[in-house]
Amino acid sequence: MTESELLFDRAKKVMPGGVNSPVRAFNAVGGAPRFIKSAKGARIYDADGREYLDYIGSWGPMILGHANEKVLDAVSKTMANGLSFGAATELEVIMGELITSIVKPIEMIRMVNSGTEAVMSAIRLARGYTQREKIIKFAGCYHGHSDAMLVKAGSGALTNSNPDSSGVTKGAAKDTLLAQYNDINSVAELFDSNKGEIAAVIVEPVAANMGVVPPQKGFLEGLRKLCDEQNALLIFDEVITGFRLALGGAMEYFNVNADLVTYGKIIGGGMPVGAYGGRREIMSHVSPTGSVYQAGTLSGNPVAMAAGLATLTELKNNPQVYTNINTMASRLADGIRKHTKYTVNNIGSLLCTFFTDQNVYNYETARTSDTKRYASYFNHMLDNGVYIAPAQFEAMFVSNVHTNEDIDKTIEIIKKFK
Ligand SMILES: *Cc1c(COP(=O)(O)O)cnc(C)c1O
Repeated sequence: MTESELLFDRAKKVMPGGVNSPVRAFNAVGGAPRFIKSAKGARIYDADGREYLDYIGSWGPMILGHANEKVLDAVSKTMANGLSFGAATELEVIMGELITSIVKPIEMIRMVNSGTEAVMSAIRLARGYTQREKIIKFAGCYHGHSDAMLVKAGSGALTNSNPDSSGVTKGAAKDTLLAQYNDINSVAELFDSNKGEIAAVIVEPVAANMGVVPPQKGFLEGLRKLCDEQNALLIFDEVITGFRLALGGAMEYFNVNADLVTYGKIIGGGMPVGAYGGRREIMSHVSPTGSVYQAGTLSGNPVAMAAGLATLTELKNNPQVYTNINTMASRLADGIRKHTKYTVNNIGSLLCTFFTDQNVYNYETARTSDTKRYASYFNHMLDNGVYIAPAQFEAMFVSNVHTNEDIDKTIEIIKKFK
């Protein structure tokens, strides 16, 4: 048995499925998950000492590559002053100043500990601010695992073909209305049949939890217009797209502003961080200035802020990161298209190969993908030292430390997949 197999056996005894997050268990692709011991640059190393070229990047945060020196340095310097105070620190102020200077539509921000928490809080704020209860979300979009968002969710919830989690009450789910991604009419109809009741529309501006599904021309603009007409808030869940599609995220990339934005992943540079922000007028409704309660013992944790700040600062000071990662991702996408007959969606540094010959533009079309085929593809890649998502409905993430040689080597390995 390998070290990873031995660890997995031990893990299964003490954690459900042997993991702390479902997709890690490799259920969709078979085999024992690799237990990771270390990572550097674009590569990760498992408990058996095997090396993999990594296209997950911790699901996005490692945009600068693993164990970036500047990030590690910031963390160890900050750490030496103590890990947590449960009180205000200057690093939080600097983080707020940095984000509001980078992302102009955001005037105020509140730091939390995960993307899930960011979304859950933003939804509460939207409801408190509008004094309305219903939320529109899109089939196949994942917004973390809070009750109201586990309705036709993407990512692990989609992979296990169990989109509605048990344990979510009818009460929590009944105020979540479902629309179809890239179908503005499905949203207009919900607004029509729920006049004056919709607090917010929440969307992944690029859906990246049902594979990668970019918004079609006019879709995000259409959402903006409908929300304005109906006095509802538009929430962009930028947990993946934030600081990735562009420094200013999807709002900058598509030139469409949301009223509230949620962050996670990159914003923590590998530490557990999330955030939500928006205009001052809306954010002032959050406690202690407003009546929408939200708190966190470890929120704004100094060590986590240090990692996030170092990452965001590096991105801000090196705009060529974006041209670099986008160029490499499209080189990879083009290579896969050239050598396979499958559908490859690519936008910015995100891409996904769907094992279908159909165009993929929403949940229904994403689900035409042959997930068994994906499982063999995944195992072929893994056997050849390339680590991609152990499930079809996830993105490939290209980082700034991947090289053209890495990309070309990856294409060569994909070519050999039969
Ligand atoms: C990952 C993700 C979340 C949840 O973030 P966690 O930190 O895992 O709680 C929410 N929304 C989107 C779009 C995500 O990709």
